[in-house]
Amino acid sequence: MSAAWPRRPRLVAGNWKMNRTAPDGAALAREMVTLLAGGRPCEIAVFPPFTALESVGGVVRGTGVHLGAQDLHPEPHGAFTGSIAGPMLVAAGCRFVIIGHSERRHGLGEDDALVARKVAAAHRDGLTPIVCVGETLAEREADRAAEVLVRQVAAAFDGMTPAVACATVIAYEPVWAIGTGKVATVEQATEMHRVVRATLDRVVAPRIGAEVAILYGGSVNAGNAASLFASEDLDGALVGGASLEPAGFWRIVAAAGGAAAR
Ligand code: PEP
Repeated sequence: MSAAWPRRPRLVAGNWKMNRTAPDGAALAREMVTLLAGGRPCEIAVFPPFTALESVGGVVRGTGVHLGAQDLHPEPHGAFTGSIAGPMLVAAGCRFVIIGHSERRHGLGEDDALVARKVAAAHRDGLTPIVCVGETLAEREADRAAEVLVRQVAAAFDGMTPAVACATVIAYEPVWAIGTGKVATVEQATEMHRVVRATLDRVVAPRIGAEVAILYGGSVNAGNAASLFASEDLDGALVGGASLEPAGFWRIVAAAGGAAAR
């Protein structure tokens, strides 16, 4: 199982996607760490591409900024050309791994069963998974958003013990909001986070939903972060594009930390 993790930590996670070489990533991480020198208002994690894990890890080590990877293979080793296993990520200094991002579910055809195997692998290998769930625009327009979330969460958490569920982070990321500049309203995000919590109560154990950290993701930026974090049901954010700009990322982190301190 992954390392101990406080109850519903306030977390801002920066998903760099397929951006930055190893030296460019280290330079970006150095800028971020400099901005954080005055204090770390909440938990922070950065997710560079695999090839920059080592260089970025060297910069963030000892700063309190966590390192994470954007995916892993469900097997711990073997003949899987092009894939990366959990123990390799741990050896590279990773604490977290993103699983089931919509760019992999919809772009690369990853289904609920594969996502569930990856979540189990992350826990087996000592990584904290951030499991992404979320509906497409067509699903929302067909009034199927809640049904999709229930299915995705139930598949990822099926058979999980309460302790392991609490050591798992969920990111609610409506697909229509990722990289589009469209943001869910705080009411929409809160409603969907409640659907996720109710599903955890049913699938894992009664009242466990209130114990699991749920991030919102989808075009979060320095301008909209504070209004999103006004909801008690949002435990932080998974940030894509805006995580590549250190000053803006810092303002998102500060907004999350300020909300946590209230
Ligand atoms: C993401 O990659 O998870 C994401 C939410 O991207 P963006 O913030 O760019 O919408």
